[in-house]
Amino acid sequence: MPNDTQPPQSTSSSSQSNPAWSRDELILALDLYLKHRESLPSKHHAEVQELSQFLGKLGQALGITSSASFRNPNGVYMKLGNFRRWDPDYIKDGKTGLAKGNKDEEVVWNEFATSPNRLAAIVSAIRSTVEADAQLGNPLHGDDELDIQEAAEGKVLTRLHRTRERSRKLVEAKKKQALASHGKLVCEACGFDFFKRYGAAGTGLIDVHHSRPLHTLEPGQKTRLEDLILLCANCHRVVHASRHWLSLEQLKAALQKA
Ligand SMILES: [Zn+2]
Ligand SMILES: [Zn+2]
Repeated sequence: MPNDTQPPQSTSSSSQSNPAWSRDELILALDLYLKHRESLPSKHHAEVQELSQFLGKLGQALGITSSASFRNPNGVYMKLGNFRRWDPDYIKDGKTGLAKGNKDEEVVWNEFATSPNRLAAIVSAIRSTVEADAQLGNPLHGDDELDIQEAAEGKVLTRLHRTRERSRKLVEAKKKQALASHGKLVCEACGFDFFKRYGAAGTGLIDVHHSRPLHTLEPGQKTRLEDLILLCANCHRVVHASRHWLSLEQLKAALQKA
């Protein structure tokens, strides 16, 4: 039997041994679906095989799996079928597509299917980040942080973003710049000043938040100090508390409204 002929299985039965598809994986599968919307490729199609392999790499980079082949081509093919269910072009004639594989398919469809440019940018950023993971010192490894909601763009870009925010070199450079121009470290959203409030015990305390939209992140790209903003710990926590991370403007608006 050739290697690539695996017994057909539904994504729901394969999910017994494998974790449910992550948001990153669904984003990548949706991108492939939209490219072949008119006529879905078979599990033997080069792009289906490639995505299957890439998902193995992604799963390993994130520490979701130790197996490079945990999403086989058949699983990818089935996932494309799952997306059909949400495609208005497909179901308008009364066809239904495959049964639902997991609840996030619909969410990902609704969020990205009508924003092809944003989707393409996110896919490109996820792919290059995973490919560069080893070279960058494996920023994708690690645990999810309690106070950080995984962004709509998925885990890979969430982790890349956080790695940049925690870069000691960048944080120190940003603080130095702010001190040189304002003589103090103040939250750009609410004006909180740790030193003013806590005295010497609050010296030098402020969070640094990376304000660039996640879909514009690329590994190896230099972070500019203008891309960083100073936030107090509370404001920073609020920014990352929902899937759609707040911009500085949204944060300020929320403060004003409250
Ligand atoms: Zn603040
Ligand atoms: Zn942040």
